[in-house]
Order: sequence, then C-alpha cells, then structure tokens
Amino acid sequence: MNILLKNGLLISPSDNINEIRDIAVIDGKPSLVIPDIKFDKVIDCKEKIVSPGLIDIHVHFRDPGFEYKEDINSVANAAAKSGVTTIVGMPNVKPAIDNKTVVNYVLNKGKETVVNVLTTGSATKSNAGETLAEIGEMKEEGICAVSDDAYPIQNANIMRRALEYSKNFDLPFMAHCEDKNFTKDAYMNEGYNASMLGLRPWPREAEEIMILRNALLAGLTGCHVHIQHLTTKGGVEAVKWAKGQGYPVSAETCPQYFTLTDDACLGYDTNAKCCPPLRRPEDIEAIVKGIKDNTIDIIATDHAPHAIEDKEVEFMSAAFGMTGLETALPLCIEELYIKNKVPIEVILRKYITEPAKLIGSKQDSFATQELADIIVFDPKAEIVVDKTKFLSKGKNTPFDGFKLHGEVELTIAKGKICYEK
Ligand SMILES: [Zn+2]
Repeated sequence: MNILLKNGLLISPSDNINEIRDIAVIDGKPSLVIPDIKFDKVIDCKEKIVSPGLIDIHVHFRDPGFEYKEDINSVANAAAKSGVTTIVGMPNVKPAIDNKTVVNYVLNKGKETVVNVLTTGSATKSNAGETLAEIGEMKEEGICAVSDDAYPIQNANIMRRALEYSKNFDLPFMAHCEDKNFTKDAYMNEGYNASMLGLRPWPREAEEIMILRNALLAGLTGCHVHIQHLTTKGGVEAVKWAKGQGYPVSAETCPQYFTLTDDACLGYDTNAKCCPPLRRPEDIEAIVKGIKDNTIDIIATDHAPHAIEDKEVEFMSAAFGMTGLETALPLCIEELYIKNKVPIEVILRKYITEPAKLIGSKQDSFATQELADIIVFDPKAEIVVDKTKFLSKGKNTPFDGFKLHGEVELTIAKGKICYEK
C-alpha cells in the first residue's frame, strides 16, 4: 500500500528536519521524494506532527512467565497505540533472558507482532548477580544490550566483569542503580510522607551511590553504562560529574519521575508505588533541568504492567511499577513541552535519536529505515486518561483521569499502518 502523509510538521531530529513537508510510504519504505503516482491512502496531517516512530528502550514484556500481566503481543499493540514502533524488553522474566533459547523465543514472538521487538539479555544467570550469563551467545542471537534491571548487581567485582564482558561483545550495559542493602523492605522515598504513612523509607542515596559506582566502573572498563530510570537531583549531578570525567555513560528518566512526587502515595495508592520510588519537587526540577541541558539523554517508560491482584493489596505487599506506554507521549507534551517549554524536537531526540544510537537501531532516520516507522500526533489534542481503554493488560496507572495534551493519531510500523485513531 502506498500512503501519502500531507501538510504535516515533519520533525526528525536524526535527519535534521523540522519543517512542513510531505512524506510518503512506497511499498513499505519511507520516501521524502513524493512520486507522481496515485496513492492508496492520502492523509491530511495539517497542524499535526509527523515523526519517526518512538523507540522505548525500557519495557517489561512479562513474557515468558507472567503472561497474565502482559505478553509480547499485547505490549506491542499498546506500543502501536502509543506511537512507539520499537520496544526493548528487560530480562527479568521467567525463565530469565540469560541464554540464547529465551532470546530466540522473545525475538521470534516479536516478529509476529505489529512493532519492532528487541530484547536485552541478563548480565548474570537467573538474574542472580553471581555467575555471568552467556552474553556472547545471546549477542549472536540478537540482543541489543545487557541489563541487570530489577536485579542490580551488588558486587562491584562481578559488575566489573559483566561490563568487561559486555564491552568485549560491543554491547552497552543498561544499569538499574540501587544498593539493595539500603532499600531492604523499603517502600517509598525517604522523607516526611514515608514517616506520615509509617512506611519504611527508601533513601535517595541508595540510587546515587550506585550511579557513582557504575560510572566509575564505566571509566575503568570502557563499557558504555546507561543509567536507567534516574529519579534524584543528586543522581543528575552524579551523571553530570561522570560525563565531565569523560566516562562512557548516558542516562534515562521516565515520565512519572518528572510528573509526580511521593505525594501520589498519600492515601496508600499502590499505583504510585514504583522502583525507584517517586521523589520530591526539587528532584523533578533537577530532572527537567537535566533534560534541557542534556545530562539526561533518553526518555523511556519502564512500562511495568501488573495484574489487578498484584496491586489491589496493601501498600507493603503491592508489586512495584506502573504501566507506562499509553501515557508516555501525552505526559512528555504536558509536563515538558507545555509546562517547561522543552521543544518537541528535543523530546523526540530523547525518545528516538538517542535511544537508537544506544542500541544501534537504524529506525530513527528516514534515510536508514528499512521499513517505515512513522507516527502522526496532535500535540494540541486534549485527552483524559482512561485506563479501561488501555490496550496493555496492565491497568496500573496513577494517571487515570488526568487531563493531558497530545494524542497519537496514526502509527505506521514495519511499513504498515498498525494503529489509526
Ligand atoms: Zn529498574
């Protein structure tokens, strides 16, 4: 099918394009040269933004092992509706993604879905943080990064070996930064609210200590360390320092961390329980500043879907995490673009160009896309978040009922229309 997207504001940071310009999809491939043919579908994108599809490098597929929470097909459909055309899965599933058989399962199942499905491999066997996994074999099978997400490696020497091994295979390491001794049985950010609620506090230093350790190990090993889900002011400063030292590090944050504070946990709302926890207003300020000055390179969701029974329990027993894909772009538009005047081009660079660079994807640029990944969204559209309409199996969001701006109208992935409002 040949498609013409007309009159839209085309923004593609990787192609240095930010102008009103048409783009076509010819036999599944993107084309900035518009041929004189009869198109099967012509879409008027006036006053809309047209860009390459978003690339979300931090997504929990829950498959294999926890398909009652989410599966590769449902997460792909949720991604398509969210304008995300490439998703990268985390290795903490069951069995863990620590060998080529599981990598193969995820990638093959992913091929049958509507978006590009990639996966990380676990740094250690069974995510136990002790014995290194078969990183070389997993690389051959197609992993795009190594990660210790959800099970941060505590032993610095094992982390050093994991980084050396990843570096050998030319893979970046996505690091969940948390000193577990510091957060044992902790539920929310250390401070007044935790005291008020009588919940064991989670010190910000648990995150910051590990960011510093992992940055030092990036310097020592030369392996690119990508700091996942940054949440604190001190963390932003730590990343800035590490970059100043010339260490090969990058950092990501997630929409919840520039939108909500731990006030969202008042009333024991388990949907606001996440790992790392929501912080304070000064942290949000530092994160927004870090996004503006490029200390924070990447926006990702840490999409963490759970079943109702995982969350409809008391706060202490509830699972950590929130479903994130279907609110991500509207939260970026609302909080970054409208409230904090971050240009949409900058948001897209952090949600398309930088993640592609990290994982070696070519889908960020119309010049290099093999099959077209293109989205059309309206940054002015007003929406009310309704979790019952989520395509993700996970309805665990603290944003239900939020009035936001920004709506995806069309998603083309792998050269085909996979979502249309
Ligand atoms: Zn994590």
